[in-house]
Amino acid sequence: MRGVVQGVGFRPFVYRLAAEEGLAGSIGNDTDGVTIEIEGPLQKIEAFLSRLQSQTPPLARIDSVTVRPLAPNGETEFRIISSQVTGPVSTGIPADAATCADCLNELLDPADRRYRYPFTNCTNCGPRFTITRRIPYDRPQTSMAKFTMCAVCQAEYDDPLNRRFHAQPNACWDCGPRLRMESPDGSPILANDPIASTIERLLAGEIVGLKGIGGFHLSVDATNSIAVQRLRERKHRYGKPLAVMVRDIEAARELCLLASAEAAQLQTPAHPIVLVRARENNRIAPEVAPGVPWLGIFLPYAPLQHLLFTDPRVGALVMTSANLSEEPIAIDNEEARTRLGKIADAFLMHDREILQRCDDSVIALVDRAPQLIRRARGYVPLGIELPFEVPPMLAVGGHLKSVFTLAQGRFAYQSQHLGDLENLAGLEFFQESLAHLMRTFEIEPEVVVRDLHPGYLSSSWANDWATARGIPVVAVQHHHAHIAGCMAEHELNGPVIGLSLDGTGYGTDGKIWGGEVLICWLDGPDPASFDRFAHLEYVPMPGGEAAIREPWRMAVGHLHAAGIDLGDPAIAEFLGAAPKELALMRRMIERGLNTPLTSSCGRLFDAVAAVVLARHTVDYEPQAAIELEGIAMDEPDEDPGYRCALTEGDWAPREPLQIRIDSLWTELLADLRRGVSKPRIAARFHTGVARAFVEAAVRARALTGIRQVAMSGGCMHNRQLARLLRMGLEAERFEVFQHEQVSPGDGGLSYGQAAIAGAILRNRRLSRGPHG
Ligand SMILES: [Zn+2]
Ligand SMILES: [Zn+2]
Ligand SMILES: [Zn+2]
Repeated sequence: MRGVVQGVGFRPFVYRLAAEEGLAGSIGNDTDGVTIEIEGPLQKIEAFLSRLQSQTPPLARIDSVTVRPLAPNGETEFRIISSQVTGPVSTGIPADAATCADCLNELLDPADRRYRYPFTNCTNCGPRFTITRRIPYDRPQTSMAKFTMCAVCQAEYDDPLNRRFHAQPNACWDCGPRLRMESPDGSPILANDPIASTIERLLAGEIVGLKGIGGFHLSVDATNSIAVQRLRERKHRYGKPLAVMVRDIEAARELCLLASAEAAQLQTPAHPIVLVRARENNRIAPEVAPGVPWLGIFLPYAPLQHLLFTDPRVGALVMTSANLSEEPIAIDNEEARTRLGKIADAFLMHDREILQRCDDSVIALVDRAPQLIRRARGYVPLGIELPFEVPPMLAVGGHLKSVFTLAQGRFAYQSQHLGDLENLAGLEFFQESLAHLMRTFEIEPEVVVRDLHPGYLSSSWANDWATARGIPVVAVQHHHAHIAGCMAEHELNGPVIGLSLDGTGYGTDGKIWGGEVLICWLDGPDPASFDRFAHLEYVPMPGGEAAIREPWRMAVGHLHAAGIDLGDPAIAEFLGAAPKELALMRRMIERGLNTPLTSSCGRLFDAVAAVVLARHTVDYEPQAAIELEGIAMDEPDEDPGYRCALTEGDWAPREPLQIRIDSLWTELLADLRRGVSKPRIAARFHTGVARAFVEAAVRARALTGIRQVAMSGGCMHNRQLARLLRMGLEAERFEVFQHEQVSPGDGGLSYGQAAIAGAILRNRRLSRGPHG
């Protein structure tokens, strides 16, 4: 059996099944998974095989089963073989899993020997990836190596019928890790019960640094406005919403309007943060998620967190990754003291080392389907299937929200979310994580894939790394990679119509793309290429990157391109900008000073938010667009929305059609002047953009006959836009595909890069034919 079958209680499960069916034989781990030999009456064996697949333990995932008949050899009992693993390993390390129901019961049971023990776990739950140094996943290779199990724990560990059989992090009060309190300078704080002391501090409004599973959290009482403001000021994080942990699903329902699919996501073994609609007038301080109708909530996933909520006074806690702005999350005790000593009032530390940084994962229900916004704890390092075999390779992803992919054979392994590759700390995290995953999966890349942008840190790093190893580099266009990732997830060879609606990426013409209708394929003579069918018309982006932080600049670029008079005092008023600033911006555009051209869809959303909401600057990239989506979401679908016309005429591969946005602006400004409500304007805008891309897809189909549409890019996180696009496309009888396993944003980019490089190499091998 192949799949996630090691370190997840699979062997004891099989042992019990065999015992219950009265069968003999053996089970052992090998490099590919597990091998089972089973002997007995055929009927019993068939029952065994069907139960094997229907009653799989919660953390196990069976990818394939190969069955081969053997002559009986007269065995009478079933044994678990401890096998030596040699050669390349494809099973790797399981992902971290939230505390299971059995462990939670023990944690809260005064009669249990693990009552209130903060590191309780078993084969069905607990840390895995984050405590493992290298494979095979075995206690000496984890940060549990320094804790010697007591006799009772050892007996559990050795008993095939025990829930803790080979549970590598198995521990108890007598033999396992311990908690302690520390002040920010590292000096110990005497506390008989560190949990109780932490609770008192949190209730008093203090900021406590909590050492968790994949890193430190900074925690405050989420109902305390002053405490939340202090945290924001000390962390230098002003606008970005903070995640909130609540006791259980009932508590989540009190705060939020939970759809059943959202409730299910909150309770998967990964226990991600789920973005949900907040109830009005809930108890959460408004400073937690200013300006948006959603709340990022999650449930306790470690025993330590459950213990904080045993006090009925603790209702909701802000739990935010302990870092400064976009630095990687802190994991090391010393690192926490240095980097967070000025933020936290106290630390709740423990002595189990975290070996892999891993942020909390983030999911949102977009257009009824769960979509990964950040794929990290609970998912990493689980493999994602590729539609074809690929040679060992590394795809480095993009620039921001970096995630790399290692691929080999039929599987791609995505790294955890690494933060932005802009600073040195980000690059170090990238390299440390790469070394770890290369070791874990024993993948030695034979090719490196990078973005087309020559100026990205990830691109120059990839070039240097490949040169040092003497292996080739493949450069892939950003929006092509987005679509290829969606195709690979759905095993589409294409050609498909790809709607790549995104922030910014480097185009083949040197301009900044991001509102693209592409024709893509993963087989055929040249999977490295694609056709650009249409794009949002180019507009100036005054100040380049600065226009991302200051959406009003983007608005000026757009209005200028649409021929709107920037001298009109009403414009200055909509934008909340001084006429002098506007004039300066216009001169910049007219002289082409530091003003690249962009077809970005994300920047169009920014520009509209700047005009409609007077959103002058942003604290994080999609803030303006998210606020615009937030006010549009309760409006009834407005047909037809603002008009974005596709240019007439014929299409040729090097002459893409353009989606014009001048009438969009004229109509939008007229609505603003007439005093149409802002939610209605925002809704009309969403509808207009969706309709423009549906029309482009219809034109593309008329010329090419392609009926499948793959949607990708960071703008697909926008629920309103994703829903309107799917509905519009389905009404036109397209078959529509969206991401399910990787993020449509730049977190998923490296998976698409790997798919393209894999397709190129597969093609080369095939074209060499039997003689090559
Ligand atoms: Zn458990
Ligand atoms: Zn013990
Ligand atoms: Zn992108």
